[in-house]
Amino acid sequence: MEKLIDSYGRQIRYLRVSLTDRCNFRCIYCSPADKVFHFIEHEEILRFEEILEIAQAAAEMGITKIRLTGGEPLVRKGVIDFISQLSQVNGLEDISMTTNGYYLSEMAHSLRSAGLNRVNISLDSLDRRKFKRITGFDGLLKVLRGIETALQEGLIPVKINVVLLKGINDDEVENFIKLTIDKPLSVRFIEFMPTNHQLQETNEGRFISAKVILERIMDKYPDAHSVTAEKGCGPASYYQLPGGQGMFGFITAISQHFCSRCNRIRLTAEGNLRPCLLNDRELELKKRLREIPQSQTELRKDAIKSLLKEAVLSKPISHRLGSGEKDVTNFDMSQIGG
Ligand code: SAM
Ligand code: SF4
Repeated sequence: MEKLIDSYGRQIRYLRVSLTDRCNFRCIYCSPADKVFHFIEHEEILRFEEILEIAQAAAEMGITKIRLTGGEPLVRKGVIDFISQLSQVNGLEDISMTTNGYYLSEMAHSLRSAGLNRVNISLDSLDRRKFKRITGFDGLLKVLRGIETALQEGLIPVKINVVLLKGINDDEVENFIKLTIDKPLSVRFIEFMPTNHQLQETNEGRFISAKVILERIMDKYPDAHSVTAEKGCGPASYYQLPGGQGMFGFITAISQHFCSRCNRIRLTAEGNLRPCLLNDRELELKKRLREIPQSQTELRKDAIKSLLKEAVLSKPISHRLGSGEKDVTNFDMSQIGG
């Protein structure tokens, strides 16, 4: 098998696929309500059949994990049938999804039956008013129901993504880690990343480092101990409260990047391969694919493999966000998928 190994020896086994740039929420750090968005035209969104072709070729090159993201992946019509087909792709061992959780209470069962293995659910506040301030939507209770349903349906481990926003939700850290006492949840605090479309208020002074938050937690819970995370836990480092069923951790993309261990590439909703989230270089895979007739299946597969290889070889050794350099990236998280 021809493997996807980059110029720095990292083997790429993980593909993140953004299914759509559309979302039912308008999070202040991702797609704030006061910004005008130019959504990708319907015909420019990668079709499910195209994603399946890409997934098959990628699996033949050693990709074993696929994460579906967005925008909000659950707003894309036909997503359940698509997952059923994706789960039939030979070589894929793990299909997961990052979702805002709003539709999970009604969809979790079908998602599980279709072959989805697990979910990461974004939840930035446990306070109903603050949740609305951050997401633009009064959806906290429904998301909490979605989390319960995901646990019941066995979409595990259920991970909760909390983007840390100084002065907005950093006072809720303790409430979040308390969730891990009674429930087998992995709560991950994510450092806020500066991107293209954000409210002024998130760009200025909203960053708070994981280190500061961990120090606060350790002051309050000196018995919290670090744990070796289970398989599939990615770039987070984890801790557990004594007797806790779950754990909590940090994704420090800015203060302490984990680029040396990066094993992923991304496929945007528009069909571009993006070697690094925080670097704007992309390769136009959909454009290339649509130049080749449907009937030429082997030619299409060769084209996908060749662009996957090129994308992987052009993966930078690390990103430069947080380095003080200006304008190193300029992207929409909702198109790429975080
Ligand atoms: N809609 C889904 C959701 O919110 O989980 C999937 C897409 S969202 C772009 C993927 C992840 O990126 C979410 O956990 C979200 O909180 C995170 N994210 C979005 N913008 C971010 C930013 N500026 N900094 C850090 N994380 C961000
Ligand atoms: Fe939507 Fe997720 Fe972006 Fe929030 S973070 S606006 S839920 S895509």
